[in-house]
Amino acid sequence: MVQSAVLGFPRMGKLRDLKKATEAYWGGKISQDDLLAEGKRLRAEHWKIQQAAGVDSIPSNDFAFYDQFLDHSQLFGVIPERYSKHKLSPLDEYFAMGRGHQKNGVDVPALEMVKWFDSNYHIVKPAVQENQKFTLNANPKPVVEFKEALELGIKTTPVIVGPVTFLALAKADRGQNVDPIDLLPALLPLYVDLLAQLKAAGAESVQLDEPVLVLDLNPKVKAAFKPAYEALGNLGAKAPKITLATYFGDIVHNIEVLKDTQNVDAIHVDLVRNPEQVDAVIAALGPNQTLSAGVVDGRNIWRSDLGKKIELLERIQQSIPATRLRIATSSSLLHTPHTLESEKKLDPEVREWFSFASEKVKEVVVLAKAITQGPASVAAELEANAAAMKSRATSTRTNDPAVKARQAAVTEKDHLRKSAFPVRIALQTKEIKLPLFPTTTIGSFPQTQEIRIQRNKFTKGEITAQEYEKFIEKEIEHVVKLQEDLDLDVLVHGEPERNDMVQYFGERLNGYVFTTHAWVQSYGSRCVRPPIIVGDISRPAPMTVKESAYAVSLTKKPMKGMLTGPITCLRWSFPRDDVHQSVQAQQLALALRDEVIDLANAGVKVIQVDEPALREGLPLRTGSAREAYVKWAVNAFKLSTAGVEDNVQIHSHFCYSEFQDFFHAIAALDTDVLSIENSKSDAKLLKVFVDQSFDAHIGPGVYDIHSPRVPTEEEIKERIEQMLQFLKPEQLWINPDCGLKTRTEEQTVGQLKSLVAAAKYFREKY
Ligand code: GLN
Ligand code: ZN
Repeated sequence: MVQSAVLGFPRMGKLRDLKKATEAYWGGKISQDDLLAEGKRLRAEHWKIQQAAGVDSIPSNDFAFYDQFLDHSQLFGVIPERYSKHKLSPLDEYFAMGRGHQKNGVDVPALEMVKWFDSNYHIVKPAVQENQKFTLNANPKPVVEFKEALELGIKTTPVIVGPVTFLALAKADRGQNVDPIDLLPALLPLYVDLLAQLKAAGAESVQLDEPVLVLDLNPKVKAAFKPAYEALGNLGAKAPKITLATYFGDIVHNIEVLKDTQNVDAIHVDLVRNPEQVDAVIAALGPNQTLSAGVVDGRNIWRSDLGKKIELLERIQQSIPATRLRIATSSSLLHTPHTLESEKKLDPEVREWFSFASEKVKEVVVLAKAITQGPASVAAELEANAAAMKSRATSTRTNDPAVKARQAAVTEKDHLRKSAFPVRIALQTKEIKLPLFPTTTIGSFPQTQEIRIQRNKFTKGEITAQEYEKFIEKEIEHVVKLQEDLDLDVLVHGEPERNDMVQYFGERLNGYVFTTHAWVQSYGSRCVRPPIIVGDISRPAPMTVKESAYAVSLTKKPMKGMLTGPITCLRWSFPRDDVHQSVQAQQLALALRDEVIDLANAGVKVIQVDEPALREGLPLRTGSAREAYVKWAVNAFKLSTAGVEDNVQIHSHFCYSEFQDFFHAIAALDTDVLSIENSKSDAKLLKVFVDQSFDAHIGPGVYDIHSPRVPTEEEIKERIEQMLQFLKPEQLWINPDCGLKTRTEEQTVGQLKSLVAAAKYFREKY
């Protein structure tokens, strides 16, 4: 009786099949028909997994060759003329919008891509025109895919981005002056048409995703729900039943909107992130509306604690009858890996604690059954689940008393450097002997084919640790020599030993586990495989000291050591869900603190702690949650860096340039030197540093490391000139935007030559 529902399933397939097929198509190795067939095969496979598990509401149209927002742009004819004019095939036009197209005389860049809420997935932003004409595609993808499933005997629930969310996340195309939400009246008839076509094809239900409801909404967007759902909710027998789905947050601050959506069949809310919203939501539901309770986590890899979920669901049942309750994943499972079955190397102990997409769909079904027929009907499942929960809670892997004791002993003072910045910088300048406009790089040097080959050989056991070490030393020697020849001021060892910013450190820390196939889509065909934090984190031995110390021994110039900061390690991993993220961040911070101290003792007097993910962890809404995050995140950074003497120079690096609303957090880190991405932005953005009287040193990137282009000395001088309109000369460092790992050595040398020459020019001048 109580229905089970899945909001979306990962698209890539068990072995990243979709990535492989798509890239093969882009590379001209398979035909368009081959790719389309592979998409069809994957959709069928994913539906069957859910059918076999017994899911009642199985999603369709959750598949996309690139991104679901891009699908909708094409579905509604939101295709800027620079793409449509080439008369490419629909699939190629779609990819052209997603990733750009440079072939047969066509040369168009991609549309803008943005992070999907606070996940690591990215959507392609719809770009609308002032005189935007919406047209419904002649073969609407949601209808095609619904029918495709029906042919397999599976009646699915098509997933469609809701009209308000679609427009709220759209933007005016370049050069256009229009607020997309104003286009709602023109767009709504297409939704009406689409819903009618789905109904005619046999669809009984449809899921309209409106996750913007979890954000702080401007009044115009908030007001748009009323006309939108008046139009869509009152279609009666002409449309499938609508579930309005929200996720990644609570909707209590927008609860009035539920009054305007009482004519839809069901409201879905995320009860993993915000279980406390349930009472307010139930109170705001219409008398016949169903609550879709998102209780199985769509954003993480942990097995659900079924006992606890049943408790929650039983409590919910006291205020809403079973006939109006549905049990669902908290969000689409897009953010989880495909199946645990592929993990052959995982330690059996921890394996029991995990649940990926294919396992989570079963959890939803078990919960629905437990609620409908009573827990006894799924006794065996509950017993196995309880055993796994117990094993996780009591394992020595999760609980390290030494780590806990160390955390308990942390005091406010541990977060503070000995002296204030002016005292520190005077000491550092004298001891490290830095010229005006010091030049440096962000850490990595080109990761050559040869480095990858040797690392692979080492991983496979084809060369010994000693041989690999020798190879890394050679690389370090090479990079140090290169920098001396270029006459850079603060050198780096080049990070040749690092496979990835987070994995490298995770592999050297207790408390982390790694998977072999647990990929999740980041954007287009790009996938990431985040390491998993399973337990209390500690550092058994130094992680980077050997390489950095070796680099120090090769030169008289100051050497900088680079570490990935606690928040970035946390954000780019699957975190634990049994302790607060601030606790995990503090554990990472303590481990890194030891590393920072060891580096300093080994003669590395400049230490950079990278935090490119600091900002993306910012809670979606303004207010107390945000302030709390800033406090613990900043504290973690400070704890990791404050253990050294005043003469050690602490740098940090951020790959973004928008500091307007985040400035206080950055300033609170109390770094000596900050390097930020800046080359593609207006130098005016630096004004915030002046306005807020930021006195620490700062190195806004002077060229874009993503491009192979070698900037001229003149260009860099111009850039520095612009920066000097805002920053004091004695404050300014000269460096690239980010690490150089994706460039070739030839490009790097050319680029850095211009950079050093430009810095020298200003040194003369001042
Ligand atoms: N130190 C890292 C590098 O140079 C920083 C990478 C990053 O900020 N994303 O590659
Ligand atoms: Zn960077």
